[in-house]
Parts: sequence; structure tokens; C-alpha cells
Amino acid sequence: MPAASAQPPEPAAAACPYCGWPDGEPAPAVVSEHRTARGLTVWTRCWCGSLQVRQLTAAGIRVSARGRPAEPRPAASARPERAQDVGSCRLGPS
Ligand SMILES: [Zn+2]
Repeated sequence: MPAASAQPPEPAAAACPYCGWPDGEPAPAVVSEHRTARGLTVWTRCWCGSLQVRQLTAAGIRVSARGRPAEPRPAASARPERAQDVGSCRLGPS
């Protein structure tokens, strides 16, 4: 049996799982770049707001880490409304 286990056994996600932007395409926003021994490590932000760590090597671009997209906002409509003044203005039929 071949002992080629250099790659982690993860499915090759060739695109962002949140917005579908291909990993091979240039990211819309580059957060920072760091030169490494193997090439270049680029922190990018995807269209959906997720942070990605891209390894740029001679073999190509590989996304080694991926964050979650930015939370849109805490739900503003989840504020519980209190029942209005129950029993304070009861107008009986006259
Ligand atoms: Zn995305």
C-alpha cells in the first residue's frame, strides 16, 4: 500500500463554503502578508467576510485555514416586547 499521507485527509475544498468564491481566485481583500520558508502566507478576507489563510507556494494557492463569515448583526428584532399595561385602562361598556 502506498504511504502517501503527507496531505491531511480533508476534502479539497476548492471554494469558500460560505459564498462559493474559488480558492484559486484572488481574494477581494488582503489583510496581511508574511514571507515564509515555503513561500508566502497571505491572510485574506473573503467576500462573505470570512478570514482565510492562504499559502502561496510553488505548487499554487492552498487555503490552510478559514474562518467564519462576519456575523451580520445580533438580531435586533429579538427584543421581547412587554405586554402593554394590562388592566390599567379598562373601559367598561357604559
Ligand atoms: Zn467566502
